[in-house]
Amino acid sequence: MPPSSREKSVTDRLVSANRHYAAGFTDPGMDARPVLKVAVVACMDARLDLHDALGLDLGDCHTIRNAGGVVTDDVIRSLTISQRALGTRSVVLIHHTGCGLLNLTEDFRHELELEVGQRPSWAVESFRDLDQDVRQSMERVRTSPFLLHTDDVRGFVFDVTTGLLREIDPADGPANDREP
Ligand SMILES: [Zn+2]
Repeated sequence: MPPSSREKSVTDRLVSANRHYAAGFTDPGMDARPVLKVAVVACMDARLDLHDALGLDLGDCHTIRNAGGVVTDDVIRSLTISQRALGTRSVVLIHHTGCGLLNLTEDFRHELELEVGQRPSWAVESFRDLDQDVRQSMERVRTSPFLLHTDDVRGFVFDVTTGLLREIDPADGPANDREP
């Protein structure tokens, strides 16, 4: 049931904003293939505006987002479709400082099971070391048998306080992380 007409819900606010958007919208005449042939995998974090932060325009890229920007089976599914059906060739992975997953552990699943009586089938994919998780994500993309293009896969950490990306060198190990 929609909420009472006196109180606008956040969704009502979004729908109203969409009417303004559509009023000024003209059909860009694009097809579904991203212009820059790139797919960006990033955390869902509200402080990360991918289009602004990366200078992207409408139609430029695929954006695939989840909690942590983790390369899960479902992200591989989207990347596979992105490359094989829609022509993308490059993959950019973005984690960020202050990520909510840094404060979680796999205990989260156990606590859920205790609360609801059912253990989720998915892993929490929490991490302690941002750089290392970016490296692992790059590795998961590079080694996927389903992807056509794994030669241009780069990973970054976005600093939510400065807006800057820091590139992660896949060759570095967890032991020789440099301070930014
Ligand atoms: Zn995050």
